[in-house]
Amino acid sequence: MDHYEPPADGGPGAHDAAEYDLCDHCGQAVLGVELLGALVPDSSAVHAFDPRLDGRRVVTACSPEHLGALVEDYRDRPFVHEEQWAAKVCRTLADYDEPVPLSLVAELSGISEHQAQRGVDWHNARAREWRARYGDPDAQG
Ligand SMILES: [Zn+2]
Repeated sequence: MDHYEPPADGGPGAHDAAEYDLCDHCGQAVLGVELLGALVPDSSAVHAFDPRLDGRRVVTACSPEHLGALVEDYRDRPFVHEEQWAAKVCRTLADYDEPVPLSLVAELSGISEHQAQRGVDWHNARAREWRARYGDPDAQG
């Protein structure tokens, strides 16, 4: 596969930098229209506003080989449901400044209250692990 370098002289065939995207495997800049993409399962991913696209991430690659490698990587990754529920809860809470009852959070997130609670527990457990390892930035003295 030829490596496509953006023309430096800005002459005919030059493309705007915005038309390029990076291969998620090797980091090479590839012209958007030549980029290959695949949807892979990823429990840490939620779509900005469309819950139907939650739990999936679009990976992009410069070649079928690199796309295959990326899909393999994600296939080996465990899909953690608690992580997905936590991400949905976080997305819902991002719209609120004040405390929201868990039952409402669950309803707005499109999950059950039990799932929301498990997501919150998972999130808090991760936060505790983080503080145990790196310290609490809010702690006095
Ligand atoms: Zn690549």
